[in-house]
Amino acid sequence: MRPVVLVTGGAGYIGSHVARALAMHGMEPVTYDNLSEGHRWAVRYGPLERGDLADQARIEAVMRHYRPVAVVHLASLIAAGVSVVQPADYYQNNVAGTLALLQAMRETGVGRLVFSSSAAVYGEPRTTPIDEDHPKLPINPYGGSKLMCERMIEDFANAYGVRAASLRYFNAAGAEPGGEIGEAHRNETHLIPLVLEAAAGLRRHVAIFGTDYATRDGTCLRDYVHVCDIADAHLLALRFLAHQPGAHSFNLGSGSGSTVREVVATAERITGRKVAIQERPRRPGDPTALLADPARARDILGWKPRYPALDDQISTAWNWHGRLPSQVAGN
Ligand code: UDP
Repeated sequence: MRPVVLVTGGAGYIGSHVARALAMHGMEPVTYDNLSEGHRWAVRYGPLERGDLADQARIEAVMRHYRPVAVVHLASLIAAGVSVVQPADYYQNNVAGTLALLQAMRETGVGRLVFSSSAAVYGEPRTTPIDEDHPKLPINPYGGSKLMCERMIEDFANAYGVRAASLRYFNAAGAEPGGEIGEAHRNETHLIPLVLEAAAGLRRHVAIFGTDYATRDGTCLRDYVHVCDIADAHLLALRFLAHQPGAHSFNLGSGSGSTVREVVATAERITGRKVAIQERPRRPGDPTALLADPARARDILGWKPRYPALDDQISTAWNWHGRLPSQVAGN
C-alpha cells in the first residue's frame, strides 16, 4: 500500500502539482478541497474528498478513513490585494481553517505537516535578498493570516510534537510541462496568467499597478518560482520531517527577480504577440520588491530548482494556456 498524504487544496494550482509530484514518487495523494477555487479536473492523481477546511469533524472522518502519514496544507485564500478589502474572509478561512486542521491532526494522531506559506509574511523588505530570519511584518491581511498560521503551527509543534515545515513561496509561476495541469483561477488576479490571457486575445490589455516604485524600471519586482520546483520542495520537506522534529521554515524562490514590465516583455517575446498595457496607480498591499534568499532550502532540504528561468516559467504556462479553455469549460 502506498503511503497516503492528505493534500488540502489539492484541486488548486499549486496543490494539483503537489499531488502529481507525490503520486510520481510512490505516494497516494488524497485531495481535501471544497472546490470553491479549485477544479475537479485538476484532481487526477488520487481521490477527491469534498469538504470545508473549517469542518473539523469532516477532516477527522477523512483522516480516520485514509490514515495519512502526513498533511500538505495548501487550501487558502491567496489574493493579497483582495485581502486588504476583505480581511474577515482571510482570517476566517486561512487562520480558523488552519486551526481546525491542526485540531483534526491532533485528534487523529497525524504528526507531520507541510504548510503553504508565503513571502507575504515578511512585508516590505528591510534587507534583500530576504532570508528566513528577516523580520516578519506583513503589510496585508493575506500575509498576516499566513504568519498567524505559522505561529499556531510552531506552538503546536512545541506543545504537541507536531513536525512541520512552512514553505514560504515567492511568486509561483509556470505549469507542468506536459500540459496536464496548470494555473486556472476563476477570478484571475495574478500577473502572468493575465498577461498570457491578453496575449491570447482574451483580454484587451493588462494593468500595470504602479510605475513609480524604486526599482530599475519603476514597476514591482518579484521572484518567480516554477510550480513544479515548488512541488518538489514539498516532497523534500516531507522526507526531512521524517527524521527531524520541530517546526521549520524555508523560502522557496529562485533568488533572482523580474519586474512587471520585464514579465510583459518576456511574455511578448515567447508568445510572439503584443500585449497592450495600461498604467494604473499602485495596488494596495504590494511591497516594492520581493527577492528570496533560497540558501536554507538548498542546503538543508537539498532543493535545486529545475526551472529557475522566467522564460521556462512563461513558456510552460503558455503551453498550458492553449489547453485551458476546454478544460475549464468541462467544469
Ligand atoms: N500586477 C500588475 N497587474 C496585474 C496583476 C499584478 O501590475 O494585473 C503586479 C502586482 O502589483 C505585483 C506583481 O504584478 O507587483 C505580481 O502580482 P501577483 O498578483 O501576480 O502576485 P503577488 O505578488 O500579489 O503574490
